[in-house]
Amino acid sequence: MVQREIIKTRPASMRGKIVSFNRINRYFSCAKPLKMALSRFEYVKKFELDDKLVPECWIVVRLDGKGFSKFSDLHNFVKPNDKRALDLMNHSAKKVFKEINDIVIAYGQSDEYSFVLKKSTTLYSRRSAKITTNIASLFAAAYTFYWPLFFEGEERPKMVPSFDARAVQYPNDQVLRDYLSWRQADCHINNLYNTTFWALIQKGGLSNQEAGKRLTGTFAKDKNEILFSEFAMNYNDEPDQFKKGTILVKDPNPEDKKNPYLELYQDLIGDTFWEEHPELLMK
Ligand code: ATP
Ligand code: ATP
Ligand code: MG
Ligand code: MG
Repeated sequence: MVQREIIKTRPASMRGKIVSFNRINRYFSCAKPLKMALSRFEYVKKFELDDKLVPECWIVVRLDGKGFSKFSDLHNFVKPNDKRALDLMNHSAKKVFKEINDIVIAYGQSDEYSFVLKKSTTLYSRRSAKITTNIASLFAAAYTFYWPLFFEGEERPKMVPSFDARAVQYPNDQVLRDYLSWRQADCHINNLYNTTFWALIQKGGLSNQEAGKRLTGTFAKDKNEILFSEFAMNYNDEPDQFKKGTILVKDPNPEDKKNPYLELYQDLIGDTFWEEHPELLMK
């Protein structure tokens, strides 16, 4: 770095030329030759661990909002599902999609997003930290940048949002599908719980504690029954975006060239989606 900075500020006579270290040293009258100084310190690189992801595996980067229970309270997210916040997550994910060519499909729900990179990607030489930090920081920056598009009249969020991220490798198509099914099942379970929990509070007048207690030990069918018999709500009629989460894929024939993505709220667990998009698993 020292050497690079100095080379960038070298005099006109040396610019654009390959110049020896000796000549640079002479020009800047360094007490110690730069090359020696550089090699003396360079051993610190050896402390860096190799975190390359293995070849030929699907790479999934999942990010998740830090402390979004608090973040959602602070910003008065509509409970159980604030559509503005979900749409902002999707918009931010599209920015990541746009910047990183090798993303094949992405899936988001609540404050999390999973990005699937093609098996053969050579992004950052498959270095895990490089890939995850780049995706998470891009996503967080986009989330803040696009906030006013979704939260009308607000210039920016009241606190700085952040997201953690990890990269996981999946060795074959079946495990990749199982991974995505797992996230969608999680979305379903949480959403059914949250929908019932908030109905008990908002429509049933229960306190948070009472609602929690009421739902302890209940199964899916019990929650469906509470919604139906006590609040005349059919869980099936809830929006698919809330029940299933959002699948993002590239749109082969986009109407809007600035938005060349398909936002789908479909089932990922069965075969239909994969039969309709056979190209996804060929990447
Ligand atoms: P990579 O994506 O591999 O990190 P990079 O272009 O970001 O590529 P770096 O080695 O990180 O490369 O170097 C950062 C570059 O940004 C330098 O070339 C430097 O000229 C420029 N830069 C960073 N901060 C400043 C600054 N405050 N003023 C002027 N230039 C800057
Ligand atoms: P951690 O930092 O461990 O991830 P967290 O508070 O973010 O903690 P999560 O398990 O990630 O916990 O849960 C996310 C929280 O954010 C949930 O409590 C959920 O209620 C809230 N949340 C996220 N998105 C929305 C949304 N669109 N509408 C309403 N609430 C939301
Ligand atoms: Mg979270
Ligand atoms: Mg979460």
